[in-house]
Amino acid sequence: MSAPGGIRSTCPYCGVGCGVLLSEDKNGALSVRGDPDHPANFGRLCSKGSALGETLGLEHRLLAPKIDGQDSDWDTALDLVADRFSQSIRDHGPDSVAFYVSGQLLTEDYYVANKLMKGFIGSANIDTNSRLCMASSVAGHKRAFGSDTVPGTYEDLDEADLVVLVGSNLAWCHPVLYQRLLAARKSRGTKIVVVDPRRTASCDGADLHLALQPGSDVALFNHLLREIGARGAVDPDFLQHTNGFEAALEAAQLETLSPTGLSEEEVRAFCDMWIGTEKTVTIYSQGVNQSTSGSDKVNAILNCHLATGRIGRPGMGPLSVTGQPNAMGGREVGGLANMLACHLDLENPDHRQAVRDFWQAPQMPEVLGLKAVDMFRAVADGRIKALWVIHTNPAVSMPDSAAVRAAIEACPFTVVSDITEHSDTARLARVLLPASAWGEKDGTVTNSDRTISRQRAALPAPGAARPDWQILCEVGKRMGWHAAFDYESPVEIFREYAALSGLAGQFGRDFDISGLSGLEASAYDTLAPTRWPVIADRSGGRFFADGNFYHGDKKARLLPLRYRPPAARTGPKYPFRLNTGRLRDQWHTMTRTGLSPRLGAHMPEPFLDLHPNDAATLGITPADLVEVRSPNGSAILRARISDAVQPGQVFAPIHWTGETAPSGRIDDLVAAETDPVSGQPESKASVVAVQKMEAA
Ligand code: SF4
Repeated sequence: MSAPGGIRSTCPYCGVGCGVLLSEDKNGALSVRGDPDHPANFGRLCSKGSALGETLGLEHRLLAPKIDGQDSDWDTALDLVADRFSQSIRDHGPDSVAFYVSGQLLTEDYYVANKLMKGFIGSANIDTNSRLCMASSVAGHKRAFGSDTVPGTYEDLDEADLVVLVGSNLAWCHPVLYQRLLAARKSRGTKIVVVDPRRTASCDGADLHLALQPGSDVALFNHLLREIGARGAVDPDFLQHTNGFEAALEAAQLETLSPTGLSEEEVRAFCDMWIGTEKTVTIYSQGVNQSTSGSDKVNAILNCHLATGRIGRPGMGPLSVTGQPNAMGGREVGGLANMLACHLDLENPDHRQAVRDFWQAPQMPEVLGLKAVDMFRAVADGRIKALWVIHTNPAVSMPDSAAVRAAIEACPFTVVSDITEHSDTARLARVLLPASAWGEKDGTVTNSDRTISRQRAALPAPGAARPDWQILCEVGKRMGWHAAFDYESPVEIFREYAALSGLAGQFGRDFDISGLSGLEASAYDTLAPTRWPVIADRSGGRFFADGNFYHGDKKARLLPLRYRPPAARTGPKYPFRLNTGRLRDQWHTMTRTGLSPRLGAHMPEPFLDLHPNDAATLGITPADLVEVRSPNGSAILRARISDAVQPGQVFAPIHWTGETAPSGRIDDLVAAETDPVSGQPESKASVVAVQKMEAA
């Protein structure tokens, strides 16, 4: 939709989902400004969003299909992909193939990929890089609420009196939300607490920083639950809508504070603020999710909000913020190996049958598919014989990434659809399919507060690039399912998806956007940002203040939880705990942000932060090159000496790849240990040794 200031679209980076206005500048280049009318950002943009116009060049773009490194044409490449997938299914069954997709995909792309794999191929082997980002939040929501429902909204940040950031460097990773929080602090004096082993940029505006030991969040929130009970801060009326409080409290009372490494005074100050402030929002992100106890950490936070009834009311509640622009849309279409479309359950035979009937699909898997880490293990041991990777770079972003590279290289047939041919994964693929990039494609995304926004095309797709939904449909048709994948445009897919969500409503589930199923193409074109639910009467778009949850008895669950340490233990051989994370001005493996010199200037090379005491012990001075070794691999990084990290802990950013820093791939160091409930890897608590590189 062209507005007076340009075409309205959505930023393709983080889950804040900021609205942008795209227009041509006087030199004919695409200029990007914040959309003043978008409810996520009201015109604000961060450094990454405002540099979008600098990242649209064709350097490294994949412009034609390629087979074995040679340019090809679409028909040849699509026939080959369809033939090899069909052959594998014929010879070895549907579970011998897999799709590994991305939170960068638009909802319409995601929907079609999920429909093809689950309903027509007949396997649930579709998983996503969002598994590395928010799977523990999904699992925590489902355990507590009976559905993957985010209770709150961004407006709650404007109305809260206390915001607690747990494992979230909001200032760098969701910068526009952080700006919104700072504005609330200025206007109404909102207090901010940061719970993070590192002193991050988010601590600059904080009233209290709890530098707990990595992985000890359950111990901290169990202590808070205990204090809630001891100080009579429980909401007895709201507890009528829950089960499990007594057991959760009993487990919390067995906990000690020692795993946190925090002093009694620090924790008392935190409990005083939390318990004494009714309008409290707890925001959590990768520091909570990326852990072998990630789901428990999420539920430990939810326990406290449920016990006090601080959920779904203005200015209060838990809020999980997603890393990617459409991680939420992926959850909604069921783009995970353990979910069905529209928040229906793969384990539920009635749900399976209803979706199968709706799709008129030949089959529907009855068992869960392989989650990301297990999927690449299955590639490595030969169970997966045909793999399609879409808009993501697992060869460098999965834990134990050297093993993932070896697995992809050995896979009998690998396809990559992407905008670049220069990723570590694309270099290993047999077939490359050129996909349209942000700015060239049309569809929808859902941000962290359930707001569906349009991404709109402002540029023609270069070369032979095509939208992902079209590529997937062409393969589906060639595999024999012509009618099911015969879409002409994204709006047709969106209408079908919205109609399917009506089934969720019939089954009493949360995700129902069937009110949008009759959208004309013109209405889809002009669709304004829309937060779901669009049908249910939910005050302010929030869930659960009315005490209605999605378990069979309509009650929420508090869980009895105990602290569990990270999977890997430090010791004489690997004495340091490695934390990994994002930088302010880079995104994922820098496919796009790496094209902007302005963004690159912020932190130009990979580095390792270590504490001054540890640097002194190891004889390391600033800017020395250091070798970092783990049981899984090694990397060479530039040392930065900083007391932002605690003694015995080190931090390194995730962004550099084999292309940009061959010796600095951080995920080569990370062990493939996962949360037993969510399957999310523990990316923030590996163990490493550090030593100074001697001059040759
Ligand atoms: Fe884009 Fe996120 Fe920055 Fe908003 S906060 S402009 S969505 S990167």
